[in-house]
Amino acid sequence: MHTPVPDHLLDVLDQCSLDDGEVAGYIPELARVDPAQLAVALCTLDGTVHSAGDAEARFTIQSISKPFVYALALAEHGTAAVLEHVGVEPSGNAFNEISLDPLGRPRNPMINIGAITTTSLASIDPDQRWQRIHSGLSAFAGRELEVDESVYRSELEISSRNMSLAYMVKAHDRLEGDPDRVVADYVRQCALVVDVRDLAVMAMTLANQGRNPITGEEVVPAAICRQVLSVMMTCGMYDAAGDWMSNVGFPAKSGVSGCIMGALPGQVGIGVFSPRLDRFGNSVRGVRVCERLSADMGLHLMQAPEAASHVLHSLGDTPETDKDGDGVRQMQLQGSLHFAASEAALRELARIPEDDTIIEIDLDRVTAINSVGKRMLREGVRRLRLDGHEVRVLDGQQHLGGQDQ
Ligand code: GLU
Repeated sequence: MHTPVPDHLLDVLDQCSLDDGEVAGYIPELARVDPAQLAVALCTLDGTVHSAGDAEARFTIQSISKPFVYALALAEHGTAAVLEHVGVEPSGNAFNEISLDPLGRPRNPMINIGAITTTSLASIDPDQRWQRIHSGLSAFAGRELEVDESVYRSELEISSRNMSLAYMVKAHDRLEGDPDRVVADYVRQCALVVDVRDLAVMAMTLANQGRNPITGEEVVPAAICRQVLSVMMTCGMYDAAGDWMSNVGFPAKSGVSGCIMGALPGQVGIGVFSPRLDRFGNSVRGVRVCERLSADMGLHLMQAPEAASHVLHSLGDTPETDKDGDGVRQMQLQGSLHFAASEAALRELARIPEDDTIIEIDLDRVTAINSVGKRMLREGVRRLRLDGHEVRVLDGQQHLGGQDQ
């Protein structure tokens, strides 16, 4: 059998081959691209990459570099220090606007003014900055990325607007180092060459708490990924962030070369490429592909998981008694134990009267438990014991780490 996933991706591409939109013309080199290209790739948690369409097509990463350089800046300086330089609020302005908050900070790191600021923070040592950006983004991709020198030079020649943004931030004392050099590094990071598979792996690294699913390298800590994905969710799709949230519903970033990268935490990384852009600067067909994938595969973050109401597999007294004749009440839990499921389980446990019954909690049908679920269940066991119950935890898969049996 062949897995149907790549066939499904092909179907999605077939259904999304619209012809509207325009390729970005303001960077001369980008205007030369073949507008008909269309490609998609998905990367799973175990590093499997499925792709369809023009998956070999290479393009410059452009603004999709921004969340990764933000991650590097957070790793270098810590969240609090980075927040002093650049905020996390959606701007409601075009990507290249002078968009400062009342404190004089760029509003977020996904618009140019904020991204140029985070580029300045990517390394404490300005001489190491480009090296760090290059090696950092390559580690996210799991291979050494190259710069498209002609796109780099082409954009550098028309960089007066980005230069003016950098000088504006410098004037507010939020940009580190020399604005001209920072903009050169920013333009260079935008000219790194990727394909949709790279984007899917880079996205999956963010969605996998910072660990590259192919190389196994921990590129940045999990807490940084949470911060980056949050900012992508609210600010990643230019002015269309609200539409994106309601129609697609996973954190994403787009770039003017026509690429979109989506990351659903714990599940999947997505890369899409098609050069024609809508009026917001997002790839027309890329947005459509993401809408379809989200609907078909249930990827919208606000689509509630079903597990919470089904946490209890069974509850009842077993025929067993101990030597004093006390009965055994057995509770079998199932599925994934996060806050809501554990809360429901604890409520069931709370109904048990304070008597001499032995309580057996069977976790063998539990498929996953997060740290909150663990804490809650351990606390429930502790309280049952305080009430005088003997509590046995059947935990063959060591969900609770073997401490409570
Ligand atoms: N290098 C581009 C610029 O600064 C990136 C913009 C984008 O992809 O949104 O104009």
